[in-house]
Amino acid sequence: MSESSQPVRVRFAPSPTGRTHLGSGRTALYNYLLARQTGGQFILRIEDTDRKRYVPGAEDELMQSLRWLGLEWDEGPDVGGPYGPYRQTERKEIYQKYARQLVESGHAYYCFCPEPETDETDEPWQRCQHREDCPDRDLPLDQADARRSAGEEHVIRFKMPYEGSITVTDAIRGDICVENSTLDDTILVKSNGLPVYHLAVVIDDHLMEITHAIRTSEWLPTFPLHGHIYKAFGWDQPVWVHPSIFLKPDGKGKMSKRDSEALSEEGKSTFLSDFAALGYLPEAVVNWMALIGWSYDDKTEFFTLADLIEKFSIEKLNPAPAAINFSKLDHFNGLHIRELDTADLAARIRPFFEQAGYPISDDEKLHQVADVLKIRLGSLAEAPEKGGFFFEEEVHPEPESLVGKKMTAAESLEMAQRIEQIIVSLPDFSEETANHPLRDLAEELGLKAGHVFGFLRNAITAREVSPPIFETMTIIGREKVLERVEKAILKLEKIAEER
Ligand code: GLU
Repeated sequence: MSESSQPVRVRFAPSPTGRTHLGSGRTALYNYLLARQTGGQFILRIEDTDRKRYVPGAEDELMQSLRWLGLEWDEGPDVGGPYGPYRQTERKEIYQKYARQLVESGHAYYCFCPEPETDETDEPWQRCQHREDCPDRDLPLDQADARRSAGEEHVIRFKMPYEGSITVTDAIRGDICVENSTLDDTILVKSNGLPVYHLAVVIDDHLMEITHAIRTSEWLPTFPLHGHIYKAFGWDQPVWVHPSIFLKPDGKGKMSKRDSEALSEEGKSTFLSDFAALGYLPEAVVNWMALIGWSYDDKTEFFTLADLIEKFSIEKLNPAPAAINFSKLDHFNGLHIRELDTADLAARIRPFFEQAGYPISDDEKLHQVADVLKIRLGSLAEAPEKGGFFFEEEVHPEPESLVGKKMTAAESLEMAQRIEQIIVSLPDFSEETANHPLRDLAEELGLKAGHVFGFLRNAITAREVSPPIFETMTIIGREKVLERVEKAILKLEKIAEER
């Protein structure tokens, strides 16, 4: 259990500026786990005040991804709740009221200097060295108000003290102490009247009674400013947690846009909304994400969402950066596929078969296929490749694949004809019934069992590798098995004649 067994109020507060990345998924997950573990509330708050970076559709994609992962929220823009609105652009008046309070209490000021040009960096005002040189910092409020009323464009800046220091505390990193002389007079409200993140996050977390804030460690540099804003308001801070950042799979640096593009060429992705189509189970993605920067002990690796709810704890978060490891994701996907009950797996592989052009009309057969593929799938997307032949009307093995190793076509033909005679006479294709007669045949012909089964496999599945042959034959059914064997014999006859 976490150090907090009191019900927490936590929030996931994404900015809809693009597709939702794995890192955000993990932040959401940790917050969700803490809420469910303590019987508290998980809140979704959309931080959409940066209109330049706003991407239409991002919010929907985000919500769908969270739901796909199974991370339902208790309060949010779509479900409502007692602390709304939950979209920051709908809270403009609230921020303005509190910003005015900071100005009146002497912690912020109206600044009439030209607003710095925003460039491509994320938050340019973080770098602005606006301070001593500002003529407006000590402007009497009545004069500032008169200029505002006259319509002069302005922003509101935090009035950072010149002297002293501030200490902020992160639950996994301890105290962080910063000299105020290294901080600047950051813009809190832009000239369009919208707050920047730093102000909005403090006001919202306070008004929404957030007790624990788990957010990416990219916010550590501005954490001291947030501490100052809390102090200026005289409010208590939530417990802050800044988990590790993610590194590229090779561990060398943060993922860039180009890295993401390169990954998608390899059939991988770090965007949550891609994982379903790549054949990953949400259960596996959750398990994988949870362990990028958190561990329970040094041996347990399989966790369901319910396990994680029980076992998650802030103390075991590792603040060190963690590399994304896709082989681990594949590993977890396999483990979680094996844990699914067969009907569930059948329902999940169905769309992959259908998309690959195999219309599924026989539910019973799909169920049998799911059962036999369960231990063989690393991803749901492999189902058509590994089991498409179950649903094909006909298969088309390469004629050469029907010729046994170190055998002539004529010898292979003879073996195939004898195999056909045997399987026609079998009452069923279970291993108990079919194995012996076919092995005896191999022995009689001076061949290896692999010759006999290799022919059958190629004839029936048109593949070198398949699930166990008797299960495969049973699922395909007598009629189709015989049909495929006959067709294979015809192909062998043709090769034998030509030679
Ligand atoms: N909107 C911020 C982001 O997307 C949220 C940070 C936070 O959780 O406070 O990074």
